[in-house]
Amino acid sequence: MKAARLRLVSAFAALAVLVAAAVSACNDEKSFASPAIDGELAMKYAQSNFDLGPKVFRTEGAKKSAEWIAEQARMIPGFDKAGRVRIPPSTRGEYNVEITFPGKTDDFIVVGAHHDTKRLFSVPDFAGANDGASGVGALLATADTLAKYAQEQILPCTVRLVFFDGEEALYQYTETDGLVGSRAYVDMLHQAGDMKHCRAMVLLDMIGDRDLHIDLAGNSTPALAKVVMSEAEAAGYADKFSRGKTAILDDHYPFIQANLPAVDLIDFNYGPDNRYWHTGADTMDKISAESIKTAADVALRVVWRLAENGFADL
Ligand SMILES: [Zn+2]
Repeated sequence: MKAARLRLVSAFAALAVLVAAAVSACNDEKSFASPAIDGELAMKYAQSNFDLGPKVFRTEGAKKSAEWIAEQARMIPGFDKAGRVRIPPSTRGEYNVEITFPGKTDDFIVVGAHHDTKRLFSVPDFAGANDGASGVGALLATADTLAKYAQEQILPCTVRLVFFDGEEALYQYTETDGLVGSRAYVDMLHQAGDMKHCRAMVLLDMIGDRDLHIDLAGNSTPALAKVVMSEAEAAGYADKFSRGKTAILDDHYPFIQANLPAVDLIDFNYGPDNRYWHTGADTMDKISAESIKTAADVALRVVWRLAENGFADL
């Protein structure tokens, strides 16, 4: 993730409290029959994505990763009847991948992760187990689950699983370096007239850490962060989630800037003193099926909760 962080101003925190108070009246005890992912399958996908090697933005590695993701989706049993996958036309060198599962409504929720990896001059073969592959594994295993679900039932809303390219800054985060794929994706939503149908965005980043503790980015939409906490608790993961105060520049941010509800599920404390982050220590032995499953299952619960409540939580 990001070296660039922004301190939250107290006014934002105060606003968060007010919004949280306002939505608490809507908090309900209902549980929705959301599907769950296969954690071991997610790990297999993560391992294979890791094994592709470096996936640096604007290199052949990132393009190959995108093509590999699209191919994996097409190979999911029953996928051709349940969903569709595409690599949207690239506008600034990015290779995003979008998997769409149509549901009861044209309204959709984006569940996202980045598939590119950080360019590390000191570690030229850096392939990003947690910082990249864990999110790819989470989303591909989610695609597998949704393809199965769609054979029996209609999804409560349309779901788009989006794998962003260019999340990592090649140099440092600026308006044009870093978050390139997510910015391009939001621009595409504008141009396609899809903004009104995009109801929420749930981002998974660095969710594979064996020692998982997800601290929601402080610049997540408060009402949506509250739904995530509520669903994490209902799933029995209350001890693995908290609401952070630190704003993080991540792929949820372009959605926030476009006034769409978005939340960043991130564990930005990877190894002692975050020492596995953006180093050669970010290898597959540091991540687990259980952690990926924890994050992805909560994301699915959030999707079902929002859709079946008619987005009343937001
Ligand atoms: Zn990173």
